[in-house]
Amino acid sequence: MTSVAPHDATHKKARALKPSSRRPAKELCSECGLCDTYYIHYVKAACAFLTQHIAELEAAAHGRSRNLDKPDDWYFGVHQTMMAARKHEPIPGAQWTGIVSSIATQMLTSSMVEGVVCVQNTEEDRFQPKPVIARTPEEILAARVNKPTLSPNLSVLEQVEQSGMKRLLVIGVGCQIQALRTVEKQLGLEKLYVLGTPCVDNVTRAGLQKFLDTTSRSPSTVVHYEFMQDFRVHFKHEDGSTETVPFFGLKTNQLKDVFAPSCMSCFDYVNSLADLVVGYMGAPFGWQWIVVRNDRGQEMLDLVQDQIETQPVVSQGDRRQAVQNSIPAYDKGVTLPMWAAKLMGVVIERVGPKGLEYARFSIDSHFTRNYLYVKRNHPEKLESHVPEYAKHIVNQYTLPKS
Ligand code: FAD
Ligand code: SF4
Ligand code: SF4
Repeated sequence: MTSVAPHDATHKKARALKPSSRRPAKELCSECGLCDTYYIHYVKAACAFLTQHIAELEAAAHGRSRNLDKPDDWYFGVHQTMMAARKHEPIPGAQWTGIVSSIATQMLTSSMVEGVVCVQNTEEDRFQPKPVIARTPEEILAARVNKPTLSPNLSVLEQVEQSGMKRLLVIGVGCQIQALRTVEKQLGLEKLYVLGTPCVDNVTRAGLQKFLDTTSRSPSTVVHYEFMQDFRVHFKHEDGSTETVPFFGLKTNQLKDVFAPSCMSCFDYVNSLADLVVGYMGAPFGWQWIVVRNDRGQEMLDLVQDQIETQPVVSQGDRRQAVQNSIPAYDKGVTLPMWAAKLMGVVIERVGPKGLEYARFSIDSHFTRNYLYVKRNHPEKLESHVPEYAKHIVNQYTLPKS
């Protein structure tokens, strides 16, 4: 494993760094928050954009890395089980049914952990992230729903060590968790639990505004949105109304540069290093998708078994032609007229990929796009930055030569 040295003497030095030198990944920085702390000392090994070492970290966290003879491992990472689940009583205002917030709350109230790293929003702006260490169920619930922007979740790590906490839950997305796993041993914890969500196409706060302004009929009233399995973006507005926009009708020509360079270079969609992952894309519409990676993840899920119903994951359809066809469209930023986009959405929804095959569709589409992005913009990083499992996925397709 890429090792990190003890940090005792380095805190002051790290704090003294000028802000301009505090983002060694430069334009690829995803603002994970590590560099806002004295753990910046470990940035070279920890930053997902400077050192890609997912396989080693998987072996340390889960006891093994992906088995490249098993395509399910390429796609979904190391796992013991997968299922679809939803809460009997969804948490109002949660992103989906609130399984993430429920697990975190149970872990805190049962004293499995003393604090939970999660992200609330600022008072002025519902989408501006404010990372916190929650110590009460109310503080966890105040962090429910996605802040769909880059979020410096790890900026609170210094407070963990200072507080003397020994058992901690961290909720986060892939790039945050890769950095966390690298510095895990330096945090002085007896037990660290990691609850991850999948993540893709993230944006800066300014990028989010551009996305809302170009896509929604009423950008200022959007409280929540998601790219759903029915190939539409679903916006929820303050008055409770819903608005849907087909993926194929997105103004991709205007949105081409909206995604952060970090996210155009990211190959950890499924949060490989979390103990337990809660998303939606491998589940039927309306259900959440659960991936248990190790025993610790199972222990966390067990806490909410009486609050959820589950069903096995399914896989239907064949994504490959749709992915191959979408590569030039993604690449050139083609936008279809709305009538054609709606028609395409309806046809794909009827005959297209479902369940795990939908998840593969989404992973394939993003990995091929991101592979081309890294090849064109950071060719010197391509070989080391793209993990082996992602190369297997991308190699299934014919990509433009340049
Ligand atoms: P809730 O109970 O509402 O809790 C949400 C949790 O997310 C909170 O604890 C909060 O701390 C945390 N959080 C919110 N914003 C951020 C952020 N910016 N960074 C880190 N943590 C955050 N799932 C998929 O299957 N496919 C996707 O493509 C996908 N993209 C995502 C993109 C982003 C930026 C995020 C944050 C999540 C994404 N997810 C995706 C996960 C999915 O949208 C839900 O977050 C997940 O299913 C949990 O739903 P819930 O109702 O249980 O969460
Ligand atoms: Fe630092 Fe995180 Fe940015 Fe990397 S992604 S440079 S670790 S803040
Ligand atoms: Fe981080 Fe990847 Fe999500 Fe971007 S897409 S915020 S790099 S996990």
